[in-house]
This record gives sequence, C-alpha cells and structure tokens, in this order.
Amino acid sequence: MPIFPRKPKYTIVKVAKKRDIPDDLWTRCEECSELIYNKKLDEALRVCPKCSFHFTLGARERINLLIDEGSFVEMDADMETLDPLNLRKR
Ligand SMILES: [Zn+2]
Repeated sequence: MPIFPRKPKYTIVKVAKKRDIPDDLWTRCEECSELIYNKKLDEALRVCPKCSFHFTLGARERINLLIDEGSFVEMDADMETLDPLNLRKR
C-alpha cells in the first residue's frame, strides 16, 4: 500500500436529478420572500408565518373560511349591478 495514495485524475460530480415539484405546492411571500408550503399557508389562514403578511383571499376562499362546510347556497348568481354612472360604456 503506497504511503501517499494517488489522487484520482478526475472528480466524479454527482448532479442531483431535478425532481418535478409542482409549482402550486409552494407560495412565495410578497412581503418577506419566504417560501411557504401551501398546506401550511392554508392552515395559517393565508397569513405568512414569518412576517404575518396577509395574502389576498378570493370570494370563495373567504366563504369557505366563514361558513360551515357544505352549508353555503349562492342566491341570485346571475344578478348584475346597476351602472348609474355608465362606467362600463367608457
Ligand atoms: Zn412573509
């Protein structure tokens, strides 16, 4: 056995295989840029656990937070607002 083992002439670089992680699993905080697992974000009621930034909630998300599951019945879904200032025609 040699006293000074010879160095290999080349180095084997192990390249980690890029795993397919779906983009919808993680959300980046708009305030502190923390990467938050979406399940954790939902458990925290859409509030960043690091900086307490409140993410926007859609109408359906808000209803799901407030109303007992399966009890919400939407009424007059086809109802439209009046446009007294003619904003839509501009
Ligand atoms: Zn944050």
